[in-house]
Amino acid sequence: MVNVPEMFGSLVFNDATMKERLPKGTYKELKKTIEEGKPLDINIANVVAHSMKEWAMEKGATHFTHWFQPMTGITAEKHDSFITPTPGGGVIMEFSGKELIKGEPDASSFPSGGIRATFEARGYTAWDPTSYAFIKDGSLCIPTAFCSYTGEILDKKTPLLRSMEVISKQALRILRVFGDTESRRVETTVGPEQEYFLIDKEVYKKRKDLIYCGRTLFGARPPKGQELDDHYFGTIKPRVSAYMKELDEALWKYGIYAKTKHNEVAPAQHELAPVFDSSNIATDHNQLTMATMKDIADKHGLVCLLHEKPFAGVNGSGKHNNWSMSTNTGKNLLDPSKNPRENTQFLVFLAAVIKAVDEHQDLLRLSVASAGNDHRLGANEAPPAIISMYLGDDLTEVLNSIVDGVKYENKDAQIMQTNAEVLPNFVKDTSDRNRTSPFAFTGNKFEFRMVGSSENIACTNTIINTIVADVLADFADVLEKADDVKSEAEKLVKETLEKHQRIIFNGDNYSEEWVEEAKKRGLLNLRTLPEVMPMYVSEKNIELFGKHGIYTEVELRSRTEILLEKYSKIINIEALTALDMAKKDIVPAVAAYIRELAETASLIKSVDPEIVTANETELMKRLTNLLSCFLKKIDTLDKAVVGAKEVEGIAENAMYYKDNVLSAMQELRAVADEMESNMSAKLWPYPSYGTLLFSV
Ligand code: ADP
Ligand code: MG
Repeated sequence: MVNVPEMFGSLVFNDATMKERLPKGTYKELKKTIEEGKPLDINIANVVAHSMKEWAMEKGATHFTHWFQPMTGITAEKHDSFITPTPGGGVIMEFSGKELIKGEPDASSFPSGGIRATFEARGYTAWDPTSYAFIKDGSLCIPTAFCSYTGEILDKKTPLLRSMEVISKQALRILRVFGDTESRRVETTVGPEQEYFLIDKEVYKKRKDLIYCGRTLFGARPPKGQELDDHYFGTIKPRVSAYMKELDEALWKYGIYAKTKHNEVAPAQHELAPVFDSSNIATDHNQLTMATMKDIADKHGLVCLLHEKPFAGVNGSGKHNNWSMSTNTGKNLLDPSKNPRENTQFLVFLAAVIKAVDEHQDLLRLSVASAGNDHRLGANEAPPAIISMYLGDDLTEVLNSIVDGVKYENKDAQIMQTNAEVLPNFVKDTSDRNRTSPFAFTGNKFEFRMVGSSENIACTNTIINTIVADVLADFADVLEKADDVKSEAEKLVKETLEKHQRIIFNGDNYSEEWVEEAKKRGLLNLRTLPEVMPMYVSEKNIELFGKHGIYTEVELRSRTEILLEKYSKIINIEALTALDMAKKDIVPAVAAYIRELAETASLIKSVDPEIVTANETELMKRLTNLLSCFLKKIDTLDKAVVGAKEVEGIAENAMYYKDNVLSAMQELRAVADEMESNMSAKLWPYPSYGTLLFSV
């Protein structure tokens, strides 16, 4: 039997372990650093490092690594062993406080967006003591922040930590106004639901597109897709179940609250949801979860695909970022309580989020922009690229009553009648769900559904924290001066709602009408990364991030460049892969089939010239036409790729890739898929969509 409580966090140097292993004084000092952000004294660090090493070695670790999140999106690690040579040719195992606090990886190969000149390629990693160290594959991993020699940040974690400080400060100001003198911190909490695909490794290995790009670039629709919706919450197959079980156990050992698992809408698609945590821990854990998902899959002869759109025509994968704010004593600030109409403090926090989302649609959209996610946003299963908010009927009624100045009758919770004797009646969730909304209020938190499955959630949460903090700061400025806080706050809420009504939309976000309606409301509809990314460095945003000390203008510009460049690079790799597959595999396969048909026809004729071979001839003609069309599309794509070199400017280059290369790839694919549908399955060079999706 698995003893989950014993297993949970067994690979983490967590609070319990620290308390048990560190001298009392050291533990106390370290806690101060963790809770109050006090700098860590080197003598304390030495003691902590020693104790960490002893603990790690007992668990079989021989190395340590500063584990950080550079702009590549994945987590980086460089492993050093604990060994220190001794005279006489032996070694002892050592780990110093200095090594714990600071690392110095050669940063020259990490994207910096022009911040570091190549002659100064040094980067620094600094321990983030608010995130526990853990053991992975025999290495003690120390969660760290990453910056350049001159102090500019080069990672995704540092701005997140900064934004958490900022929102804590501003939310506390609001709490104080409402008479809360006790809370010392406001924490942002995040629960990221992670979607993924599992496919058979042997099948995967036969697809260059999956190997190089993480998504299929070709593939005709299978006879059965997701139309029956029979996969959603369906019975989990034994092989997948074994995978999920091992995954859960691995995550529990890392102290990750893996909670819910189920099949998703698309065949071979699944989801894992953890219990929420403080946003930086949730970010680290989500990075670790994604890595573990891939590792465990490999052990089971499977491959875990985290790409946002591995298969055209089939649902893509996202990551629902559930977000809220909570005091250090655990009070959720977005909990409407029994009577939200009278809960002015709640209404102030709610209004702040509404205003923030409306004013910074550009930033929210941009925080989820990636080459992969562009395929998903706006496709029929994912929220569209338009940002809007859903509040649910009850809350909308409350807000309407404020705007219209009418009395609101508080409703008792509705009881859902199951009408079956054996089932208990249960209280109906007042926030009835709208699954199509990109930013939905779900009871006591917001669920941002646009995040892509492979993305690091740090960026999204940095932005949510910052924009909400900015509004809270303005609100606090007003409320701190008020004589009558309640009436001033109500006025503020009313004004805010009147002004930002347009961002609230409770209808179907997938409908065509909404696109029209949103346009009338003046909401942004930015479908792709090259369109939205340059907005990062608008005057508004430079000012916003500068004001709160999240990013300097230089940092913001470097990030914009990195993300635009990454986009172009990804499409370039995809185009080269598509060309390679087209020229080396698809053309020869189709030609071979045409030849087979021709040979069949002539063989038949040689037996009896009277037999009509119209079928063979017809198919031959059709495929020959398609093939010559395909060759033209190959030329177009070839030229488009070459043409990219002529385009100057990083933003212009990304736009070129979208307009010319991506579209040429799509046209090439359309012909390939048509040929695949008319071909002998035996001769087609790749496993079909049917095989890929139903392989497990
Ligand atoms: P869904 O119906 O969207 O699939 P789930 O129950 O699967 O909902 O996931 C909800 C997620 O929201 C979980 O990760 C949960 O821990 C998280 N969550 C719940 N409360 C909060 C909160 N206060 N702050 C942040 N996340 C929360
Ligand atoms: Mg969800």
